[in-house]
Amino acid sequence: MSSAEVLLDLQRIDTGADQLRHRREHLGERERLVAATAQVNSWESTRVALLERIAASAAIVEEVELEGERIDSESARLNAQMRTVIAPREAEALQHELETLAAKRAESDERGLLALTEQGEAETELAEHLGAEESIREAARSADEQLQIAEAAIDFELADLESRRSEVRPLLVDGLLARYDRLRSKIGVAAARLTGSRCEGCHLDLSAAEVDEVRRAPEGEFPDCPQCGRMLVR
Ligand SMILES: [Zn+2]
Repeated sequence: MSSAEVLLDLQRIDTGADQLRHRREHLGERERLVAATAQVNSWESTRVALLERIAASAAIVEEVELEGERIDSESARLNAQMRTVIAPREAEALQHELETLAAKRAESDERGLLALTEQGEAETELAEHLGAEESIREAARSADEQLQIAEAAIDFELADLESRRSEVRPLLVDGLLARYDRLRSKIGVAAARLTGSRCEGCHLDLSAAEVDEVRRAPEGEFPDCPQCGRMLVR
């Protein structure tokens, strides 16, 4: 192989690897995994919110029960006192206290009923929500698997290019290789073919004198494209 062919071969390999790496970074499979993971996370936070709603309602129900017991025993105490009272004024005061307690009890019962309803609703929602868990997790698992398959396929191709690359590079003399690497790190594509008067790197035409200069260069020498600076292979 002439050094011109080796140079273009190396460039093809490097460009191919660049394209593969770009493809690897922009895989649709990765976007799908991100979306599926977001769904799992959102499912998780809804579950936590529902459990919190249930716990908060249950706490109110319990609190109301204790409050009811307190009110009932206070009422029982006042009723017992009532039976021993003789003075009408005292009886009236006790009666008033009992009415206040009854009102408090009714209010507390109402609060307990609302909390119980809320707890029931949240429990129904939670049951439905838990029913969706398996399919949401399965979607994420499958998206992850698809991404790994896609990445592995690209990695396989990249490994192949890498081994071809390490076979080709030693075929170029050191100076040429160093120039290639320098240009490649600057502009990505380091070597381009001259087709007619056109540089395949920048797609611009060279003047007749410039073309002539490239054509007259000795074998194994690659003049820079006057437009883009790439090594021109004729
Ligand atoms: Zn050019």
